[in-house]
Amino acid sequence: MHFTGRTWRPPYEANTPIIQATSGCAYKNCRFCSLYKDEPFRMSPISEFEADLAEIKQYQPYARRLFWTGASPFVMSYDNLKLRALTVRDYLIKCQSIAMFASVRDIMSKDVWQLRKLRAMGINGLSIGVESGSDETLKLANKGYTAADILTQCKKLDEAGIEYYLVYMTGLAGKGNGYRNAVESAELFSQLNPYFISVDSLTLFPDTELYAMVQRGEFTPAGEKERIEELCTFISHLHIRTHLLANSVSNYHPIAAHLPYEKEKALGELQYVLETKDESEMQAFRAGLRSL
Ligand code: SF4
Repeated sequence: MHFTGRTWRPPYEANTPIIQATSGCAYKNCRFCSLYKDEPFRMSPISEFEADLAEIKQYQPYARRLFWTGASPFVMSYDNLKLRALTVRDYLIKCQSIAMFASVRDIMSKDVWQLRKLRAMGINGLSIGVESGSDETLKLANKGYTAADILTQCKKLDEAGIEYYLVYMTGLAGKGNGYRNAVESAELFSQLNPYFISVDSLTLFPDTELYAMVQRGEFTPAGEKERIEELCTFISHLHIRTHLLANSVSNYHPIAAHLPYEKEKALGELQYVLETKDESEMQAFRAGLRSL
């Protein structure tokens, strides 16, 4: 297999076979992220991609799902995505869905009819790391798009029938801003249809711009309890039927809930953490994290 770059897939795709479609990140400007900092962006040549498909076919000929690695393979043009999706069919006859990371920017360049066609060719399951639905936070994180862009582009996915997952990050708005960030984000997400929402919590690493902003006194990180309160606010203000997965390594207290049915249970669990845990103990957990 041609894994030339840093290979990263979300925890919920842990059982999905992976193939490198792109490596590195085409954007690299989010202030909290250093994942692909030293790696140039590259699209895997189709010959390389095809050779990897042939290899996957040898050991998983009946794979029903495939995850394309890279920070945003959806940045590829419609024609390039189409070529690769059809090539997957040549090798994996049973493959019904092709998942990958996508940015809101990548959707902008595609029309709804193109998205529909891609869906028909198997592309389904886009992980979109918007992190927030608040313009102030999106600007602070330098995501490169606005809340209105998220709404417009994800509605195109809804229209095309492409399943997508949104990522929300607690703590990203900084100290004292968690409540506002949660309310604005929940209001935006509630206008969309994410199959599930994955929640991470900001961990500051020294090679990021946000870390440098802390050193310069331009950003004050939220405490751990504020992040749990932010998550409670976010859950309380969400008004859609979806799954919430706040169980990745960056969450101090991992929880998963089917909303709205398990809303009260999730809030009760988080309230218990707020009442029984010590802030310094929680901060020690964060200091021990070595990756996102
Ligand atoms: S968060 Fe995603 S889009 Fe932003 S710099 Fe990191 S890998 Fe690239």
